[in-house]
Amino acid sequence: MARCARTECGRWRPDVLVRLGRAGLRFDGSWYCSTTCLATAARAVLQAAHAMPTWAAATPAPLLGRLLIQQRVIAHEDLRIALREQRASGLRLGRQLLQMGLGSREAIIRGLAAQAGVGYLTHIDASRVRRGPAGLSRDSVRALGVVPFELSRDSERLSVACSAPLPRVALAALREMTGAIVDAFVVDDDLLPRLVDAYAIERPGVPIDAATMTSVDDVAARIAVRAEQGRAERMQHTRCDPFVWVRLEGERRREDLLLPVTAAHKEATWPAELTSR
Ligand SMILES: [Zn+2]
Repeated sequence: MARCARTECGRWRPDVLVRLGRAGLRFDGSWYCSTTCLATAARAVLQAAHAMPTWAAATPAPLLGRLLIQQRVIAHEDLRIALREQRASGLRLGRQLLQMGLGSREAIIRGLAAQAGVGYLTHIDASRVRRGPAGLSRDSVRALGVVPFELSRDSERLSVACSAPLPRVALAALREMTGAIVDAFVVDDDLLPRLVDAYAIERPGVPIDAATMTSVDDVAARIAVRAEQGRAERMQHTRCDPFVWVRLEGERRREDLLLPVTAAHKEATWPAELTSR
């Protein structure tokens, strides 16, 4: 007999009915007696989504100004003036220097990339992202602030464009969701939105829907509905502040659900409070 995968439930059905799909539903390799049990189990999983440890966050990055002086892009005096101006303008240092005509765009991007310990690109042809390498939805790409532009033939390495400072949490989440080694390249702040807009506009194959959700209950209910409709067979999720990113995968479609961490966290505190009294 098959027993419901939600442990608190314990309901069971004869194997033959489960195999024929006449009882409950299958999701992520487990059998649930009902959509309610699947939704409850999914909710528990999402509420436990912890922040990903970000890699390479331990070593303090060298200050951009000092780096640009070392690279002879600017002089000490330039930096002193730019820092003073920056206090009034509120601009990031790179922008401030550009506005003052100190250093070229390329030199600044090179400096920002060196500061982050990654590569940089002064130009990426938008046609490289139109087919949506790595198979994300455009909404996910926009939320992550990271645009995949090349996936290696063996799918093991993913090259992505992002702006500085590096969105390390998003990069870690992308690595988790795709299973690929993610190589980040810093690009100009003005280029990134153009890449986001072009991403996946000519995607072949499996369509990807995306939605921003308002609560854990919404996400859990959506998962249960999709499983019941046979449109989702499994899910992946990862915390990618400010979102918990949930991907539902079925044979013919994928769906990305973005749940604000604040929403996930807010409701996660409820059961704990209730049982502690
Ligand atoms: Zn059950």
